[in-house]
Amino acid sequence: MVKSVIFLVIMKNDKPVVGVIGVGHLGQHHVKHYQLLEDANLAGLYDVDSKRADIVAKQYKSTSFKNVSDLLAVCDAVSVVTPTETHIDVAEQAINNSCHVFIEKPITKTVEDADHLLKLAEKQNVLIQVGHIERLNPALRALQAYNINPKFVEIQRLAPYTVRGTDVPVVLDLMIHDIDILLSIVKSSVKNIRASGVSILTDSIDIAHARIRFENGTVASIVSSRIAQDKVRKVKVFQQNLYATIDLLLGITEVYQVIDKPEDSSDALMTASFKRNGEEKYITYEKPVIEEQDVLQLELHNFICSMIGKDVPIVDGKAGRAALAVATQIQDMIIQDIH
Ligand code: NAD
Repeated sequence: MVKSVIFLVIMKNDKPVVGVIGVGHLGQHHVKHYQLLEDANLAGLYDVDSKRADIVAKQYKSTSFKNVSDLLAVCDAVSVVTPTETHIDVAEQAINNSCHVFIEKPITKTVEDADHLLKLAEKQNVLIQVGHIERLNPALRALQAYNINPKFVEIQRLAPYTVRGTDVPVVLDLMIHDIDILLSIVKSSVKNIRASGVSILTDSIDIAHARIRFENGTVASIVSSRIAQDKVRKVKVFQQNLYATIDLLLGITEVYQVIDKPEDSSDALMTASFKRNGEEKYITYEKPVIEEQDVLQLELHNFICSMIGKDVPIVDGKAGRAALAVATQIQDMIIQDIH
């Protein structure tokens, strides 16, 4: 909170001035959204590929900077949307220029690098936010209406092969989204992890499975693959008297609950009675209305509002570091298992 107030004081203009570093597949969308956001001014963008930078700048009526230092000098905040292994250097330079940073996921390639950035950000009094965009998925957010305390969580994320993202193993590319989701819904620390995986098309791990046990007894099973025919992104949550299934891709959330009286659920689309230990109980089926939203726009809006103290980051640097730490443990375990 104190930090938020200080952020307000150091802002150079009435609206934060923002920039985008790295305007490839995803970075161009950051440019588009900052142009649309009313509470930020887009100063411009920078990419080591100057031709690419010029094309994106022209497309979104922005300015292509020839030098990253010149962009940082005029910005209060930047999005870092460069390949993962460059996040550390790009974000470090931005933070040293007193810029708040929105870093696309994963925060960095190693936990040591993430720790370095977190320390530096604290010293420079700037915010780090991380692009774990699934946390803003309206289908997942629908769970907030329920008292979630899972005993078992099953998450599956499958994607057809594309070259993009294969600079890192599938655990850091895809599974890290689900690790972040898991850590956000299980209110306990990780007790132990088992993991295995295989390489199919690349030199690194393409298919991974992790079983994570938490201190409170919750068990989770996560499968991620980048060798699949169809895209699948599903989260299933099992807990005492509740089963929720969330299709992150289709934006569908369905919740089954056991309740004592039918009137205890006003949102149920269906209710059926059954006997448990001789007692009459009711199973309800709910399907919350999920409104389609542009989650990247929401995410960047949350970043802007967080840096001026109007909101708190949905995924801050510490959360990004926590997801990376678990992902790294899983990845190391898979490598050990193979050798
Ligand atoms: P990309 O390869 O399409 O684009 C990266 C761009 O960065 C390129 O234009 C490249 O020229 C530029 N670049 C490289 N090094 C640079 C540097 N030092 N300074 C400035 N520009 C530099 O990659 P992408 O698919 O857009 O992915 C970028 C990042 O976003 C990765 O970390 C990736 O993991 C992440 N990502 C996140 C999601 C998500 O769901 N949140 C989805 C896709 C990608």
